[in-house]
Amino acid sequence: MIADPLSYARALLERHGLHDWTVGLDRARTRLGNCREDTRSITISRTFAERATESDLEQVLLHEIAHALVGARHGHDGVWLRKAREIGLRADQAPIPPELREYPPARLWPGASVVAFIRGEVVAARVLKRNQTTVDVDTPNGAFRLPLMLVRGRV
Ligand SMILES: [Zn+2]
Repeated sequence: MIADPLSYARALLERHGLHDWTVGLDRARTRLGNCREDTRSITISRTFAERATESDLEQVLLHEIAHALVGARHGHDGVWLRKAREIGLRADQAPIPPELREYPPARLWPGASVVAFIRGEVVAARVLKRNQTTVDVDTPNGAFRLPLMLVRGRV
């Protein structure tokens, strides 16, 4: 865990030239970070930031910093990915919420039994559809579209 995630985040933004951007914490439960071009702000889920390792926090920030550097219009395309890799995003270091660390990687074919991290809780779910960077799951509380890192296999 990091004593002061916001200071850490600010320093990382500075290092990548985002001097006129702000960084904050938000209440998100189904994503880890967010990048807003219109307000020049990057926010990180508070629940994640308060429990993340330095490496996990850095990886989420680098993901969002890459969005800020190439422009939101690029989404997660090749331009974004090249920039993200260039500044240090590691494919093998996808951040996983601590609550999911004990679960194995998920097999994401339709119908697969998985666990999903939704609103701060690990819930049983079934895969509906795998998309490029997200996965649609069905849970007892309805269907959700989640980032890949929030879905893991059942033990
Ligand atoms: Zn993104």
